[in-house]
This record gives sequence, structure tokens and C-alpha cells, in this order.
Amino acid sequence: MPKFPAYTDDEIIAYLKEQVKDGQVFTDQKTLERHSFSHNETDESSALALAYIEVGSKEDIQGVLQTARKFHLPVIPQSSFSSLVIGADGEPHSLIVSTNRLNRIIEINKDDLIAVVEPGVINNTLDQEARKQGLFYAPDPGSRMISRIGGNVATNAGGMSTVKYGTTRDNVLGIKVILPDGRDVTLGHRTYKQAFGYDLTHLFIGSEGTLGIVYEVTVKLMPIPLGDSMMGLAFFKDMPTCAKAISAIRRSGLYPVMLEALDANSIEALDIYNHTDYKQKGAGAMLIFKIDVVTDKTQAALQAILQEYEASDVTLAKEEKEQERLLQMRRDYLLAVYALGGNHVMEDMCVPLSQLPTMVAYIRQLEKEYGYKIYVAGHAGDGNVHPTILWPKEEKETPQAVVEIIQKLFRKALEVGGTISGEHATGMLKGLWNNEELGDDLDMLQHQIKSLIDPMNIMNPKRKID
Ligand SMILES: Cc1cc2nc3c(=O)[nH]c(=O)nc-3n(C[C@H](O)[C@H](O)[C@H](O)COP(=O)(O)OP(=O)(O)OC[C@H]3O[C@@H](n4cnc5c(N)ncnc54)[C@H](O)[C@@H]3O)c2cc1C
Repeated sequence: MPKFPAYTDDEIIAYLKEQVKDGQVFTDQKTLERHSFSHNETDESSALALAYIEVGSKEDIQGVLQTARKFHLPVIPQSSFSSLVIGADGEPHSLIVSTNRLNRIIEINKDDLIAVVEPGVINNTLDQEARKQGLFYAPDPGSRMISRIGGNVATNAGGMSTVKYGTTRDNVLGIKVILPDGRDVTLGHRTYKQAFGYDLTHLFIGSEGTLGIVYEVTVKLMPIPLGDSMMGLAFFKDMPTCAKAISAIRRSGLYPVMLEALDANSIEALDIYNHTDYKQKGAGAMLIFKIDVVTDKTQAALQAILQEYEASDVTLAKEEKEQERLLQMRRDYLLAVYALGGNHVMEDMCVPLSQLPTMVAYIRQLEKEYGYKIYVAGHAGDGNVHPTILWPKEEKETPQAVVEIIQKLFRKALEVGGTISGEHATGMLKGLWNNEELGDDLDMLQHQIKSLIDPMNIMNPKRKID
């Protein structure tokens, strides 16, 4: 707060409450703490907000932004708060705006193969509603049971099916946004193709709440494919071999809808969690895969690749129950690692497929060099790896060695032509890597775009490009 504030907090809150007519303004300590800190209250990146607002209409959003402009306050859009990159934490004197009450599925249109939804709709709810009509919503982040379309759009969330159906960006046709100056704009269309004007829809998708607040989204829905699906589980001697098999499957014309790889450490964690013994059988890497329409020909092609890369203990599952069991194993992975105890950090690099063996071998090298166990799993079919590093709970601060490992991982990903963020976005965690990943010119251009749309820098400051 400035030394000579023009307004008291009470005056600001009173003004804010006048603007929010359909929603609710919260200022109690408990609510503010719950919505300000995704990690813990000692994390200096986050701070207690001034107010948490559950908006009930787009007019409420305009009212909050009007308040923010008048009093020069930061505005933090928030959905389910499952961001892994400190994307929606409180700032000092900020207004946290939740769009969770805007949770209607406005339309599911079978003829146009689209749905129009509000940002507060949970990803899985949209998918389930679409399935009742023979359609489905493809983007499936691991957090799909909790995360919402607003957060998914703002982070360009990916998931297991990205390997076939793309990220959120590939599945969104249009969005309605309230800009920081209060203008209400419609970006994109209901059509599957659009070539008119600059493509601002795709600029706003993945902009992490730094350019405006999304209040409506038009998404693609896919017809559920006809035919039988098949899931499978296979083990390899090590991650580089598994990565080579993944590359071969991607090249083969099989169009898998899931290609998830887990390393030996992750298998061990799952063994402990599920009382299995895959690690003891000598498995150095595990592949969980799915093809959504399988034929004899595609099954034979898949088996030939698995054989070529000496896969062992191969399970092929066509029955729904068995498929569910394999899927559950993938879902259990994070819980299994977290159950080992201690503090952790999970990273999110994505590299060209040909570089996946190099990247995973490098992770093993760092593990030996620094003596910290690194659990590697991820949407490997996209070249996306999520190394998770654990350290003892007593050490509250991230150990310097872990920071160094992450810095080296980022540099390696960039060196081999990849990115330091495949899907979790940038948040406050990685903004300082802009020049490294984008270069000076593009960094500047991104700041120019930001200041054009948000000249007062009220929208989610310090995130994305800071
Ligand atoms: C167990 C677990 C698994 C995960 N798996 C995946 C995965 O497979 N793939 C993946 O991509 N991510 C994954 N994530 C990360 C996270 O779930 C995604 O980033 C998700 O898209 C965030 O959605 P949310 O509703 O929680 O948004 P929040 O975390 O609340 O917000 C995320 C960002 O969106 C902005 N935002 C929120 N709502 C709006 C709005 N209405 N308008 C404008 N900006 C807004 C926020 O300011 C913030 O920058 C995972 C997280 C967890 C905890």
C-alpha cells in the first residue's frame, strides 16, 4: 500500500460491492487464505488478496475491472485453482475473480458438433454431457475431474488424448472475453474454419488471464468413434528404448489416443502403492497406450513395433473393465509418488519426438550427478515429460541442488529444440525464462501486445511474460 493512500480498504470494498450485483464479494480471512495461496503462506510469490469475488454475470466482471482500474488494483482470474505454476495465487491488494458460478452448459449442438459453455463448467462434466448425445469433448488434462473450462482455456491445457486430438487450443472455436478496459468482445466463431481478421482467439487461449476474463467458450465436440478400442501395457528395458518405440508408433499410422510413459522410479512408486512387482521383473520403463478404433491390421502393426523394441509383459485389453484398470494405474501415478512423502516439484518440458531419448537419458544423468531421485512420467507421445523431484519434508525451501537440476533440464529442453512448458503454462514460476525461450525480440513483442490490451497492467501481473 502507498504511504498516503487516497482510499481506505473499507472504501474500496464498499465501491466493489456496489459493482457486483449478481455475485458475492468475500473479505473474510479464511476465504482469502484459501484462494490466495496454492502452496503455503510462506511462499513469497503469493500474498493475501484484498477480496475474493464470485461473479454471477459478465456485468459483475465489468464491475470488478472498473473497480480495479479506479483503484489501480491487480485482478487475478481464478477457476479451480489447480494451476501447477502459481498461476492464480493472490497478489498484495488484489481482487481474485472466480468465474466458477458461471457454470452453465448453454448449448450442445449435435448438428454443428459444438458446445457453448460458461467458464465454470468442469471439464469432465462437459464430456459426460456430450457423451449422452454420442459426442465427446477431447481435451483431458489429468485434472479433468476438478479443473474448469475457463482455466483450461487460459492455460491451453493438454492431456492424454492430445497426441491424437490436440490441446485445448485445437478444440476451441470461439471465446467471449471482458477486456481489462471493460469492453465485451467475441473472438472466433461457431464455424470449424475461420480466416477473417487476426486470429485473436488463439492469442487469448493460453494467455493465463493476463489479457482479459473469459466468460463464454464455444468448443468442438467429436462424434464417439465407431468400432472397438484397445488399451495396452508394455514394459521396456529403459526409458530411451521406450521413447524410441513411442516414436515408431507415432510414425506408423496407428493414430494412438494415448501414449503415456513412466520410468523405473515411477514403476517402483506404483509397485509400492499398488502392491505389484513390475520393477522386480526388471522393468526400466512402462508404456500405457490406447487406440480408439482398433482393427486386426492395426493390432498386428502395433505388436510388431513392441516386438522390435523388445517389449515384455505386454497386456492388450479390449474389455472396458480391464481398460479402466490400466487407466487407473496411470491416474494412480502422481498419488503413488506423493505417497512416498516429502516435498516435491513437478516439471513440464516438451521436446521434439526424436529428442525424447536424449532428454530422458539426460534426466538419468542429472539424477546420478546430484543424488536426487527423479520420477519421470508424462504424455510421451507428444514428447512431453513431467520429471518430479522429491526432497525431505523438513527442508521447507527448495534445495539449491533441485533448483540447479531444473535449470539444467530447462536448458537441455531448449538446446534440443523443445520448450520448458508443454502444457502447465508459465504462471509465476517460469516468467523469467522469457529471453531464454523466446529471445529478446519476441519477449519485447509479447510485452507490447500485453500493454496494448492491458495498458494499466492490472490483469494477472507477474504471470506469463514477466
Ligand atoms: C493432479 C493434477 C493433474 C494435472 N494434469 C494436467 C494435465 O494433464 N494437463 C494440463 O495441461 N494441466 C494439468 N494440470 C494443471 C491444471 O489442472 C491446468 O493448468 C488447468 O487447466 C487449470 O484449470 P483450473 O480450472 O484449475 O484453473 P486455475 O488454476 O484456477 O487457473 C489457471 C490459470 O487460468 C486463469 N484463469 C482461470 N479462469 C479464467 C477465466 N475465466 N478467464 C481468464 N483466465 C482465467 C488463471 O488466472 C490462471 O492463470 C494438472 C493439475 C493437477 C493438480
